[in-house]
Amino acid sequence: MNCIKLYKEGQLKKIKETLLEELKNCKLCPRNCGVNRLKNQSGFCRSGRFAKVNSFFCHFGEEPELVGSGGSGTIFFAYCNLACQYCQNYTLSHYGEGDIIEASELAKIMLTLQKYGAHNINFVTPTHIIAQILEALEIAIEAGLNLPLVYNCGGYEKFETLKLIDGIFDIYMPDIKYSDNLVAQKFSLAPNYWEVVQAAIREMHRQVGDLVIQNGIAKRGLLIRHLILPNNLGGSFKVLDFVRSLSINSYINIMDQYHPCYNAYKFSQINRCITEEEYITVIEYAKKIGLHRGFKII
Ligand code: SF4
Repeated sequence: MNCIKLYKEGQLKKIKETLLEELKNCKLCPRNCGVNRLKNQSGFCRSGRFAKVNSFFCHFGEEPELVGSGGSGTIFFAYCNLACQYCQNYTLSHYGEGDIIEASELAKIMLTLQKYGAHNINFVTPTHIIAQILEALEIAIEAGLNLPLVYNCGGYEKFETLKLIDGIFDIYMPDIKYSDNLVAQKFSLAPNYWEVVQAAIREMHRQVGDLVIQNGIAKRGLLIRHLILPNNLGGSFKVLDFVRSLSINSYINIMDQYHPCYNAYKFSQINRCITEEEYITVIEYAKKIGLHRGFKII
């Protein structure tokens, strides 16, 4: 676990303090809301001073390299800095279902997951709650947490915030949802998504490199996810070209499980699952440009 070194050097405490200070005028993500979250004012992500946790458990449905035999110690946070109209976790991301907890309780959750044999701590949608996560991490490491940390996000990350947390996370697991900003605006209210996600993922790759797997378990590196949308709305070829430009050894999970959720029924373009042909076309392209890790070779 990378973060233990920063903890011992006192750097984790400094980074945490910087991030907590930032909550006074929150510009931690590309939304740049400028609200005072220490006073529980909320911006786009509707999150105040404390984290809201929906659930936590050893998850056996993540990528096999995160799951192993003990599962991925997954913590689902409420709310999100994106607003995807088809989100399968909409009860968390849009409705904010969960319980507000303080740092000591979040630390206890991490330690519980470690006790139950999880291979890592997998923070789902950590972007808007990064200050609170570091606050809890300090307590958890003091009490013996030593698992790899996974930053599992939607890709709409601020470059400057990622620079600040350099060295904390062992594995970055971002989505790349779209390569077309008009589509990103329509379905996630993120008009600059493509520029933002590219800068963010380049920085993640600079920090942790390609995914390193030892004895079947991911230890460090970048694990990218791309969910194929109906009618090629994700702009998958352009996404894959970008992933290939990072490294021929980039790990990318090309996902075929899209199904209409939440408000998807209101948009005819996304109100269906993808076809087998749409899936195969993307996989064939990935193979053609040399990508070879993280997806089914068919
Ligand atoms: S983290 Fe939340 S409040 Fe802060 S800039 Fe992003 S959306 Fe706005």
